[in-house]
Amino acid sequence: TLRAGVVAVQGDVSEHAEAVRRAGEAHGRETEVVEIRDAGVVPDCDFLLLPGGESTTISRLLHDEGIAEEIVAHVEAGKPVLATCAGLIVASTDAGDDRVATLDLVDATVERNAFGRQKDSFEAPIEVAGLDEPFPAVFIRAPVIGDVGEGVEVLAEWDGRPVAIRDGPVVATSFHPELTPDSRMHGLSLFETDALAGEATPE
Ligand code: GLN
Repeated sequence: TLRAGVVAVQGDVSEHAEAVRRAGEAHGRETEVVEIRDAGVVPDCDFLLLPGGESTTISRLLHDEGIAEEIVAHVEAGKPVLATCAGLIVASTDAGDDRVATLDLVDATVERNAFGRQKDSFEAPIEVAGLDEPFPAVFIRAPVIGDVGEGVEVLAEWDGRPVAIRDGPVVATSFHPELTPDSRMHGLSLFETDALAGEATPE
């Protein structure tokens, strides 16, 4: 059984829990979902989800609770993470906002609340590297990805800007794959990874 940890200090936790369950079913992998509110849980997780929500709050609580350094160690060990929207902001190297103590999980800068200034939220079908059909991407006061490092793969763009990136074991999106019934982004980033390759998948 794989253990998925949803970082649950704030944000759309239950949506990620559902999405990762569906992705596990689609991949024939038994997946147990745990919610992370305290230190000591992350080290037992095979992969992590960093939800959308309010990045200033999430970042503060992660540091207060001692979860931040555990997430950093998880990534250093090469284990998968999917970070969405506020999760991307927290995972970045610089969010241009002193109230967000970023974790440097992906080599990318972001600008908060930069997409959809005119329109708070919108949905658009986007092409994602590794997916056959466009993905229905929901953007809600979404961060724009700015400078990305050389080792960062851009998986999707919208309006000429990166909106999904991969840096080693971490996939981060400006949009919210957890808010649609489509669990392919969760599958791509968590189950179809080097970390799980080589393990026998039951038929
Ligand atoms: N605007 C939020 C932030 O900066 C992110 C929005 C979201 O996660 N939907 O934290």
